[in-house]
Amino acid sequence: MSKKRDYYEVLGVDRQAGEKDLKNAFRRLARKYHPDRSTEDDAENRFKELQEAYAVLSDSEKRSQYDRFGHDGPQGNPFGGFGSGGFNINFEDILGGDFFSNIFGGGRSRRRERRGSDILLRHSIELAAVLTQAEEEVVIDLPEPCQSCDGSGAKDGATINCETCSGQGQVRVRQQVGPFIQEGVQPCNACSGRGQISKEPCKPCKGKGQEMKSNTLRFTVPLGAESGTRLRMRGKGEPAPHGQGQPGDLFVELEIEEHPWFERSGSDLIMSLPLGYSDMVLGTSVELNHLDGDSMTIKVPPMSNSGDTIEIKKRGLPRQRSGGRGDVVVLIKLHMPRKIPKSVKKTLSQLREELSPSDVEKSILKDANERRQR
Ligand SMILES: [Zn+2]
Ligand SMILES: [Zn+2]
Repeated sequence: MSKKRDYYEVLGVDRQAGEKDLKNAFRRLARKYHPDRSTEDDAENRFKELQEAYAVLSDSEKRSQYDRFGHDGPQGNPFGGFGSGGFNINFEDILGGDFFSNIFGGGRSRRRERRGSDILLRHSIELAAVLTQAEEEVVIDLPEPCQSCDGSGAKDGATINCETCSGQGQVRVRQQVGPFIQEGVQPCNACSGRGQISKEPCKPCKGKGQEMKSNTLRFTVPLGAESGTRLRMRGKGEPAPHGQGQPGDLFVELEIEEHPWFERSGSDLIMSLPLGYSDMVLGTSVELNHLDGDSMTIKVPPMSNSGDTIEIKKRGLPRQRSGGRGDVVVLIKLHMPRKIPKSVKKTLSQLREELSPSDVEKSILKDANERRQR
């Protein structure tokens, strides 16, 4: 092992440092180097070194001995007198309860959670359902308290004291960190912190205290709901462990199925409409069955262009906050036939001059200018 560093240097304090300075320095560095939470290299050794330095310097007798003789004191190792048991530094006092309980998995300061777990259920619906406040029905098996044991998991509800913790629900644990021993309290694993165990497990539920039962859940899809919307059903989650406490909640997470042609943008619905060249020039009218159950007419004005949009007001999805409905936005696109008969080709070539720009350069310029203005 390399030569021991000076204790004052380890704690980063000067030789006149008072009790408070030592404590502050130790607290700061212990938080940094505690092996259970530190990401520093060599944290464990640094922590041991720190503990040793603090243990010596915070003890006035040891400190004066160390000041006089350094590491090579007359009795050699200044820890000689403490044997293998090491020091008992009160870490909770120095580092604060939060820090301490984290070392022991949070079991000390936090109350045991008695509530049953929540259940998350994903349910997919068609897009149309968010327009109509559709009533949905889901049949599903859910855990309920076992009727034979009232959820306790014990036959006839009979329980006895847990042997492991003598009915205390918690056990003391000792953890060796370097030369020191930390003591803490943890919930007893054998009885999950209850202090009681079943005298005999309930047979129908095998001691679990729950049984699966078919449930029919009914709920209304909120207007304008989006994918990820969660509906809470209170008390429909898992029963509390051993029938003591509140059941959890059940969340239904809605997944909105994609529509074959609509894309959703908030409360607006966007679609594209491919049209023949003649329809774009002459104008046309297209009728579609819409999501809301009524038919929807798209009126394409004459001289429409590819890329133009037509807004059909208030035929989109319900707005969740402000009420009302969004719009349907129709994007006009040119439909290009795969092939056309010879006769049509002939007609088209006769029309070519009529339909093309008379001056290509002028037309390019005009288009460029329009783009810039947008
Ligand atoms: Zn039972
Ligand atoms: Zn126990």
